[in-house]
Amino acid sequence: MVREFIEGWDLIQVLGEGMFGEVKLLVNKENGEACAMKEIDLDSHPEAEEVVKKEICVHKLLKHKNIVQCYGSRLEGRRQFIFLEYCLGGELFDRIEPDSGMPEHVAQRYFNSLICGIEYLHKKGVSHRDIKPENLLLDDHDTLKISDFGMATVFRHQGVERLLGRRCGTLPYIAPELLVRNEYNAEPADIWSCGMVLVAMLTGELPWDKPTPDQKEYMNWKDQRLELNPWKKIDHLPLSLLRKVLMPHPSRRYKLEQIQNHVWSKKKFKDADSSFSRSLSGTGAGLKKRLCSDLDHPAVEPCVAARQCQSQPLPTGQGEGSSSSTSPPSEVFHGFTQPAQLDNLLLSTQGGATQGSQNSFQRLVKRMTRFWVNTDKETTEKELRKRFEKQGYSCKMTTPGILTVQCIDRRGMQLVFKATLIEMDKQVLLDFRLSRGDGIEFKRRFTNIKSSMEMIIVKGPIMWSLAIHSDALPGV
Ligand code: ATP
Ligand code: MG
Repeated sequence: MVREFIEGWDLIQVLGEGMFGEVKLLVNKENGEACAMKEIDLDSHPEAEEVVKKEICVHKLLKHKNIVQCYGSRLEGRRQFIFLEYCLGGELFDRIEPDSGMPEHVAQRYFNSLICGIEYLHKKGVSHRDIKPENLLLDDHDTLKISDFGMATVFRHQGVERLLGRRCGTLPYIAPELLVRNEYNAEPADIWSCGMVLVAMLTGELPWDKPTPDQKEYMNWKDQRLELNPWKKIDHLPLSLLRKVLMPHPSRRYKLEQIQNHVWSKKKFKDADSSFSRSLSGTGAGLKKRLCSDLDHPAVEPCVAARQCQSQPLPTGQGEGSSSSTSPPSEVFHGFTQPAQLDNLLLSTQGGATQGSQNSFQRLVKRMTRFWVNTDKETTEKELRKRFEKQGYSCKMTTPGILTVQCIDRRGMQLVFKATLIEMDKQVLLDFRLSRGDGIEFKRRFTNIKSSMEMIIVKGPIMWSLAIHSDALPGV
């Protein structure tokens, strides 16, 4: 449903969903500026009210290049909206290849950015408490941004620090002291989770379900059994850093400054820049080009496609790396600029309701979990359902064109994801998105499904985003 206050903005797509609601992409009809809108229905989730209030309050305090910016919020009846900097690059787990991870220099770059963001947070007296790849987003310059402040809290105020008591986070990423003590120090707990993110990035797996004595994998780590997986996949230098970061005793754990001064954090990788775009095959630096390679798709109308590349930079220069060049779309993509004018979103004006523009167009967040197939929509759906059934997944079409899939992952945790089918020019784009559960597990399932469909996959450049008319995209 399009609401009055987003008149002037196109509701483009659902970017993701969380515990209490969905996050949607809004694009300004006039200037192409983009913004993510998190929407929480407090009637359906009364328990979210206090949590969201706190989330907004903490998030608004923060402004840093490695933290998703919160532009503001708005309460409309019992619906809470939070307006956020749009991260076109999707979630970090999307860049993690199950069981292998990613190239070391890429992981180092993300890790250093993560540490930089955490350093800022801790200086502000804020602890995130749920650091994991699903909450680390990437923008169009492949800059890592810490997101989701739903569990964040202030641990230091006017120089006075307090211990934290509430156990929160996600078990495989949680620090061991949280599971055994009633109170814990905020900073080392966040640092531990950063270490777990690094393990995930370097190995494509998580070493244990939770860091407790009943977990033999965790006990093996404590016993320094580094010849075992996943540790044996990690090079000597990053492993030496991890041994200090994943130090079971919080007081002996590395502090942020020690992490930043570790040889691995400072290591200069040879040819990191040039191999970066190659190794990620289309992520990061390769993104700008590839967004425009979508324009090669015959079904993309040239006029709409041209519009896709016309975002103008902010007068404040906030849109990092953007310029006012008017180069042809096939050469330069300037990325989305962040909105300079959000007044109509944030202020409670009562304008006339619109149902969105007939000319509205789609710009999908870039994800690696999508591919094109050369079968029609009906056949594609049948093929997909067959594969889900074979894997023992339960699958339902809740909205036309969107299959919701449920299963239990290797840790016995619930995994829910969505497969959206978008038909264009006799081909179908299959877009997979995690709804609930572990990102790496989701990626593992996606990889299996994709390889089982190899025969019908359209080869060629990956089309990260699209410019299509809104009625082509289900569920918006
Ligand atoms: P949970 O508590 O279940 O992790 P949540 O309700 O707090 O979720 P978020 O984690 O903030 O919600 O957002 C859910 C998903 O929406 C993210 O994992 C991401 O895919 C997408 N998302 C959130 N914010 C943005 C943004 N600024 N730009 C792009 N995508 C976003
Ligand atoms: Mg989240």
